[in-house]
Amino acid sequence: MAVTSDSAAVDTQAPAALLRPEPGLGELCVLMKLGEIVLKGSNRRLFERRLHNNIRAAARGLREIRLTQRGAGVIIVRMPGGSDLEVAELAERMRNVMGVVWVHLVRRVAKDLDTVTDVAVRSMAERAGTFAVRARRRDKRFPLTSSQIAAHVGAAVKGAYGLPVDLKRPANTVSIEVDKDEVFVFTDGIPGQGGLPVGMSGRGLVLMSGGIDSPVAAHRMMRRGLKVDFLHFSGMPFTGPESIYKAYSLVRQLDRFQTGSRLFVVPFGKAQQQLKSSGIERLQIVAQRRLMLKTAEALADDLGAEALITGDALGQVSSQTMTNLTALDDAVDLPILRPLIGMDKTEIMDQARRIGTLAISELPDEDCCTLLTPRQVETAAKIADLRQIEKRLDAEELAEHLVTTAQVHRPSFLGDSVPSRI
Ligand code: ATP
Ligand code: MG
Repeated sequence: MAVTSDSAAVDTQAPAALLRPEPGLGELCVLMKLGEIVLKGSNRRLFERRLHNNIRAAARGLREIRLTQRGAGVIIVRMPGGSDLEVAELAERMRNVMGVVWVHLVRRVAKDLDTVTDVAVRSMAERAGTFAVRARRRDKRFPLTSSQIAAHVGAAVKGAYGLPVDLKRPANTVSIEVDKDEVFVFTDGIPGQGGLPVGMSGRGLVLMSGGIDSPVAAHRMMRRGLKVDFLHFSGMPFTGPESIYKAYSLVRQLDRFQTGSRLFVVPFGKAQQQLKSSGIERLQIVAQRRLMLKTAEALADDLGAEALITGDALGQVSSQTMTNLTALDDAVDLPILRPLIGMDKTEIMDQARRIGTLAISELPDEDCCTLLTPRQVETAAKIADLRQIEKRLDAEELAEHLVTTAQVHRPSFLGDSVPSRI
């Protein structure tokens, strides 16, 4: 499985085989390892509560779950009465919950060495290559030490299948975790998203084109704990609705990582034409982007969002020169977060593939930005010129007006919804 070194750990294409439940053993449940959340000291409880709520939201529509925190770094989710397939589906959902570093499908067994050994041995059936047993005790009253458990189970696995032990780089790992009332046994894990629970860092508003970059930017900021809403500018009425469909599908895909996403769609064509007929020529693109940002800021104000997020990467296109980015910053008071600023296009595309947005972004559409694009784009826009144009057009008022034309959608990974006015 391809796991990148920057711990992005967002390989949504990971082999489903890892999630294939094995019948006939103890109750199957999901064990999750948490990341940075364990570092947060006295605020830990708040973070845990947020994460627990997010886990429950992600499990919506499935059979009822029971969630318990085990120490700082582990959460167990049980699904009483759930079939192995239902629990596997739960594990699949948990891979998308921000703040979770590893997701394991585990067998919950009695605190009895023989039972634990039996389940561990059976979990290695049909495996090839080297193995190691790793044991840990969250309940130190268990009569055996971790290394005694590992040695005992290791000998049994070796005896059953004759597999060689390799403690440094084993092909298979059998994990045994002893808790107060039960023991968990498992062999594989799949990487979660890492990062921090969504909502922990406040709210943001993503400027969402139908392109490759902005969905990746959104995912990155969600991963740092921002709950985000999305704003898309379509070229309507001068383009078709294709870009809106794309934005909708992209948000639905991203909704897996936070739930409850809102997509605001503003028809931008007339405003673009207004800019164009003011004779701004080479400044058209930067002026358009500033108007988008001003509109986003007005909407963010209504939504209580504290930052705007864009998919800008330095120098990727002519509107993204240092001078032009500075001219964009000047358009609004809110901070503009640009998590992709230092990334190459190929890196961004890799991420987009992992989070499942690349294929949607690559669908054809008519981008509102290519509409009315001048022959030559200014690479060093002067802020004074832009401000003057905006004064003439009363851009602030135009932005306020554009917000009132927004349609809000709620693209949910769980199902469809009906558009309405805000
Ligand atoms: P993307 O792949 O995200 O479209 P890009 O490389 O095509 O980015 P631009 O078209 O210059 O670059 O856009 C830069 C950023 O401006 C986008 O990442 C997005 O945040 C915002 N943006 C551009 N067009 C739109 C739009 N139609 N609606 C909302 N935001 C937009
Ligand atoms: Mg674009």
